[in-house]
Order: sequence, then structure tokens, then C-alpha cells
Amino acid sequence: MVSLLEILERCNICPHECNINRVKGDLGLCKSSFKVKISSYFAHFGEEPELVGKGGSGTIFFSGCNLLCIFCQNYEISHLNQGYEISVRELADIMLELQHSKCQNINFVTPTHFTLQIIDAIKIAKAEGLTLPIVWNSNAFEKVETLNKLNGLVDIFMPDLKFFRNTSAEILTTAKNYFDFASLAILEMHKQVGDLIIDKGIAKRGLLIRHLIMPENYSDSFEVINFIAEKLGTNTYLNLMAQYYPSYKSYLIPEINRRIYPDEYKIIVVYAKSLGFRRPSYIFS
Ligand code: SF4
Repeated sequence: MVSLLEILERCNICPHECNINRVKGDLGLCKSSFKVKISSYFAHFGEEPELVGKGGSGTIFFSGCNLLCIFCQNYEISHLNQGYEISVRELADIMLELQHSKCQNINFVTPTHFTLQIIDAIKIAKAEGLTLPIVWNSNAFEKVETLNKLNGLVDIFMPDLKFFRNTSAEILTTAKNYFDFASLAILEMHKQVGDLIIDKGIAKRGLLIRHLIMPENYSDSFEVINFIAEKLGTNTYLNLMAQYYPSYKSYLIPEINRRIYPDEYKIIVVYAKSLGFRRPSYIFS
């Protein structure tokens, strides 16, 4: 079997396939070496209510990113790569600590470029008593081949499906073929875990899709919604997010250099509702 080190010596973990040697310290588009780097971890009470519960979502923010949106609201962590390095052992310890603090789940934010190290850490933590659901909170720019390695380890996939047109992503991110990969990635996630199952208000297992609505429909919201309705069905838990604000280099594109108007949001929610989307109720009631 090919070892973690061997794969990362010619990293092709994500669709960028940089083929650089991260073990030696070379940096690909995600700006991340072999060592896991995080910016923070804590019980997060600002996530979807079904993830927060009473104890909060045990969130671990990874530094670097393989998509690097020019409007990123966490650009200090993603673009500027702020954070500190930890070992796989320490990552497992953090998961166990979050469980000990009574968090509802372990929520990996922007994990894609560290997929292999995270797999190792999950296995260590599970062997030492971790029982919380694992949440994979990604930008969806991922390879099916890499996601296959998560089968049986991740309970809740929470991709942010950002664009439908590859051209939109090409303008706003480092990906030239975002939707080609993100669409297949999301179908694979759904194949692994199915629709989101919520028990007594707490998410247990399944797919939760996020979509950030942008000014002037820059994130192709109607097409994204059509895709989900057609390929996954309208029982999908679809969090249409209204919190966009211009950040980092949004000023380079005048159309996205503002918040969205209430009507821009409303029209998209009404459209999704007209197709039959009903979850979550705090959006579709
Ligand atoms: S994970 Fe990073 S280095 Fe590896 S292929 Fe993706 S962007 Fe390149």
C-alpha cells in the first residue's frame, strides 16, 4: 500500500494535482507543507442549529486552502496561512479534548489539503474512545478518489457548493474547473452518507449543503439549486447563506464589492421553495 508520505511526496490530493513534494517542504497552491497547520479549535455556537446542540460544534480550523476565493472572509487563515503546526497525534488529542468538553461533533473546516493526515488522526482518536460524529466542512473542490478514503470515517459531509459555472470560479478562485469536480464530489458524499438525518434536533449523519449567495448572482444560485434538485432531490438540507460581505480582494470586482440586498436573497429562497426544498425550516418555513 502507498504510504501517506509517498502520496504527499507528489501531492495530488485535490484536483489541482500540483505533484510537488510536501514532505520536503515544497508548497503547492494550498500553501501547505506536510505538517498539519491549524488556526484554532473551539466549541462553535454559530453553525447550523442541528450541529450546535447544547455543547457547540467542536470546530477545528485548518490553515491554508486549496480554493482561495478572492472574497474569502477568513483570508488571514486561508490566503495568509496564519496558524500553528501540530502533529497528527496532537490533532487526535484535540478531537478527544473537544469530546471531553461535551461538543456535539468534530467539525473539520477547510480540511481537504490535509485529508490524509486527518484520516490518520481520526483513526487514532477513535481507537482511544472518540464517538462523536465527524463533520467534513469543505469547499467541495475535491477528488472522488480522495473522498473514497473517508468512506466510513465521516458521518456528515457539509460542502459549500460555491458556483455552477466553471467560468465564475475561474474569475474568483484558483480553480479552472470547480464545478466539474465539486459536482462529482457532492454526488460521492451523498452516496456515502445519504440525506441528512436529524434526531431530536441534532444532525447524526448525512449530507448538508451550503451555498453562499453573492451579489448580482455571481455564485450562480439558480443553477446550483437546479443541480441539487435534479441530482439529489429536494429533501436535501440546503442552507442558503445570506452573510456575504466584501472581504480581502473583493474590491477587484466592483459587482461583488457590496453585501447582497434582501430581495436578492429572498428571490432565491422563493425559487428553491417553489421547487420543493423544505429543509432547513429556519429558511424555508
Ligand atoms: S492539496 Fe495542495 S499541494 Fe496537494 S494538489 Fe491540492 S493544492 Fe496542490
